[in-house]
Amino acid sequence: MAEDVSENKHEGGTSTTTDFTERDGMDFIRTLVADDLRAGRYQSIVTRFPPEPNGYLHIGHAKSIVLNHGIARETGGRFNLRFDDTNPETEDVSYAESIVDTVRWLGADFGGTVYHAADYFEQMYRFAEYLIGRGLAYVDSSTDEEVREARGTVTEPGRPTAFRDRSVEENLDLFRRMRAGEFPDGAHVLRAKIDLASSNMLLRDPLLYRIRHAHHYRTGDKWCIYPLYDYAHPIEDAIEGITHSLCTLEFENNRAVYDWTVDHWQDFVRAEGGEPSRPHQYEFARLALDYTVMSKRKLLQLVNEGLVSGWDDPRLPTIAGMRRRGVTAEALRAFCEMIGVAKSNTRIDIGKLDFAIRDDLNHRAPRVLCVLNPLKVTITNYPAGESETFDAPLWPHDVPNEGSRPLPFSGTVYIDRDDFAENPPKGFYRLSPGGEVRLRYAYVIRCDEVVKDDAGEIVELRCSYDPATRSGSSPEGRQVKGTIQWVSAEHGLPCEVRLYDRLFTAPDPEAGEGDWKQNLNPDSLVVIHRAMVEPSVRDDAPGSRYQFERVGYFCSDTTDSRPDALVFNRTVTLRDTWTKPAASATAKPAQKAKKDRDPSASSDARPKSKPAAVAVERTPELEALRTRFATELGLSADDADLLTREVASARMFEQAVAGGAPARTTANWVINELPRVADAGALAESKFTGAELGELVRLVEDGTVSVAGARTVLEEMARSGGSPRELVSKLGLQQVSDPGALTPIVDQVIAANAGKADEYRGGKTGLLGFFVGQVMRQSGGNANPELVSRLVREQLG
Ligand code: ATP
Ligand code: MG
Repeated sequence: MAEDVSENKHEGGTSTTTDFTERDGMDFIRTLVADDLRAGRYQSIVTRFPPEPNGYLHIGHAKSIVLNHGIARETGGRFNLRFDDTNPETEDVSYAESIVDTVRWLGADFGGTVYHAADYFEQMYRFAEYLIGRGLAYVDSSTDEEVREARGTVTEPGRPTAFRDRSVEENLDLFRRMRAGEFPDGAHVLRAKIDLASSNMLLRDPLLYRIRHAHHYRTGDKWCIYPLYDYAHPIEDAIEGITHSLCTLEFENNRAVYDWTVDHWQDFVRAEGGEPSRPHQYEFARLALDYTVMSKRKLLQLVNEGLVSGWDDPRLPTIAGMRRRGVTAEALRAFCEMIGVAKSNTRIDIGKLDFAIRDDLNHRAPRVLCVLNPLKVTITNYPAGESETFDAPLWPHDVPNEGSRPLPFSGTVYIDRDDFAENPPKGFYRLSPGGEVRLRYAYVIRCDEVVKDDAGEIVELRCSYDPATRSGSSPEGRQVKGTIQWVSAEHGLPCEVRLYDRLFTAPDPEAGEGDWKQNLNPDSLVVIHRAMVEPSVRDDAPGSRYQFERVGYFCSDTTDSRPDALVFNRTVTLRDTWTKPAASATAKPAQKAKKDRDPSASSDARPKSKPAAVAVERTPELEALRTRFATELGLSADDADLLTREVASARMFEQAVAGGAPARTTANWVINELPRVADAGALAESKFTGAELGELVRLVEDGTVSVAGARTVLEEMARSGGSPRELVSKLGLQQVSDPGALTPIVDQVIAANAGKADEYRGGKTGLLGFFVGQVMRQSGGNANPELVSRLVREQLG
């Protein structure tokens, strides 16, 4: 027995010892590990990932795996994969297999041995007899209800049940008969005898064993009693020599039971002549991600109710789903490292995940051309029946990869419907009647004629090309502003494209009343049945990743039932189409993501302060709002576009204007000021309403507060909420527009700067700004600047 429990039988994922010392920016768990190593508390660090094989792993598990494996790797320690398989009813070997595969795929080296809690059942049982023998555990024959009731409440201590004082002999006899299968489920339980009055309810004689006549996927029918988590987990850790047992915060109170169990386990092992190890439990924040749900129970519900196609549905946060969507293990690991580990629960902006995915795919996914919504373009002056092939680079110049592919061109090509506008809005640099555009890597074409069917729908464009503009020829002829993707009709391959999007429309689908499933995004999957992709992808392996230029990152599907069909799953868009665009322009991740776009392929030129437009798929509702904002409210096409990329900003704007705030000024605030105070994507749950924003805008308009003051108010609204008017006075930001109050300050400033005043009077009127600035400063920034300017001119004039 002694060997059984203390023997070091690991071949775990190891590496040579490294120097693991405390560093700036180290998370609290690594800091703790470094301290343990420095103090010599452990020779080597052993961590574990302990999934229950009752579902597929999700990205929350990835966080735990990356953390546990990372610490073992960095310290030259070991990392164990162990199934916490103590619950026969929900576990299954297919889950276990998928989990092993997934952990491997993630690159977490567990050294080849998969551990199982079920393999320790015999040791756990013997330890239970040991506890009974020392009066530390007893068989309770109360009903579940009675046990619960006698446990007391937070304010009242628990009471003993009628069975707490059974003799050791009786307890042993009953426990053995429990194991032998003499009793039905629920007839008895084994409880630890700890402290019924403890303020920690979990210490009030926790359950150690229960009777379950159930088939276990690993031990079959050998057992009909099964240990509970709080008892089993510390023993599993101790047996495997785990040093740091990391779990999520909700287990904080369980730590007392963990320690109780480990302490007695050590005595037990010593009594048997062994040398026990001492694991410690530490808790960290579990990962919660916006716009999705994470618990296995809820994921199972989505799968079982057919709301998604299976555990590997690309919309799910399961690792299998993300894999199928085209996300790489490196991207997932980078994401987990980026978010770090902390001691308090927060929800993570899903934009961070998208960023990690784009950052990884940028240098991994070659660029190819694909047209999602093909519109036929006939090039009337291209020699009939001929074609030619361009040698097109697979990578943009800022990615240090090399290679090219042949790209065939002919007299009929497809372009995307969205790249043609019969009545182009201002700033539209793609194709329009009489207009010109460059076909990526090919020629400049001009649209000469628009062909429509009887229903008035555009079915074809007749264009002419300019042979002098052949890509790569020098000079390439004249420059045009737009470049668009295309596919030769004769050579292109029809394909299915699945545009996956967020599974839920609410950042926290589980918040609020009502069924969380009502927050499912009806547009989370849009299937395009007949897109056209360039022929170079024809023989690529399933699972190949691409950037379809100007469209997004895609991955060919690996599990489609039609082997001949070309199917592509969208992994991620090229940039964030959900969050406020202005916000992504300032946020760091988006800035980097911007590089993903090959500038030569982007066709829209925009004013500098605003982000370039991207093709955004709007819901019909948002589309209608865009039109209304531009027509009825007189916004520029740009502003209407930017405001209606997401429901939250459109709503915010609408509500503000409904309260009487002027549309154009309000649009400016929503587009340019909100991103400074709200995290990307946080608008929907912001602390203030559109009506309040509108009120603030009106306070600026009527001179109550200066623009600078209003910015301060907005920051406070975003932080803690509150009425703008009240905040203006609470923060002392009322704009002073009373000449009687300002004139004395103006006089004072002029008197203090008599020399400059003379210079001004002598003609150096450029000093006006100096005086206005001084007065503004003296007034705490609250003076009405126009009024100050007028007063200064009057006093000096
Ligand atoms: P869920 O609550 O999603 O059903 P679980 O905790 O029941 O998950 P387990 O198989 O018991 O799933 O978890 C295995 C390990 O993964 C545990 O150590 C657990 O703490 C960790 N883990 C589970 N979910 C998360 C998460 N969202 N963030 C970080 N770690 C997690
Ligand atoms: Mg669990």
